[in-house]
Amino acid sequence: MRIEPVVCKEAYLLVTLHDMNCPYVDLKYFPHVYYLDPHLAPLLYLRYRIDQEGLWEHIFTKIVRGEGDELVRELRSIEVYKWDEIKDMLSKVAIGLSSLHEKVREKFVSLSRKIFGFEKFFDEVYVVLGFYPRAEGFHGSTGFTKKLPAIAVFINDRMKAEEVLDVVYHEILHMLIRLNNVSELIGNRALEETLLDFICPDGYLSVALGLKKAVKTSPRHYQEFKELYDKLGPKIREYFENKRFEKISILKYLKGVCFE
Ligand SMILES: [Zn+2]
Repeated sequence: MRIEPVVCKEAYLLVTLHDMNCPYVDLKYFPHVYYLDPHLAPLLYLRYRIDQEGLWEHIFTKIVRGEGDELVRELRSIEVYKWDEIKDMLSKVAIGLSSLHEKVREKFVSLSRKIFGFEKFFDEVYVVLGFYPRAEGFHGSTGFTKKLPAIAVFINDRMKAEEVLDVVYHEILHMLIRLNNVSELIGNRALEETLLDFICPDGYLSVALGLKKAVKTSPRHYQEFKELYDKLGPKIREYFENKRFEKISILKYLKGVCFE
């Protein structure tokens, strides 16, 4: 399972526009008054068109294949402030990310197979790199494609390759859960995010892969799924600390104990 970093203005713009739907993005409900801003209006109108016609995957596929398309040209015409600098920065991060993934990918595949019982893996996953201006609180996202394996991460050069790859793996695990049709998790976002929070980023898998030194004690979605965290936390800890994944998948392990 290779990763293919994508450093490309059109792809970055596309995933940024799609990300306005992401529940962790503050601007999920973008005030419509911004449409009156002459700089934002072309971008927001483009989003409206892509969304209305359901063209997210279509456009992304055109971009990565280098094929011409009217909406791709429209995306290209939008100016991204300091894009040349950002592109250089993202390209450097891409190199570090790819070489780190090469070092840990076999272990990632083998451990995630044991933990989730995955049978299928992708040959290649596109990782769109977008710029994020802050040093902390960066995120990744999926969902702009259904068929083509692709995720996005919003980053900058102040982040270490280990941190970025940890978030990339979180998003890839979401996609592997769909690919393998893990029925206990499909449609149960609370359980899926709770489990993944203990696994990566900053989780037991992150530590096992050498991406982090310690498991973070205050996971990302704790406030949202507090009750589930408190219920599952001790069992999940026990599962990893005693290397139970060598014998049983985490869902089988938790079944009957923590959920039906
Ligand atoms: Zn997630």
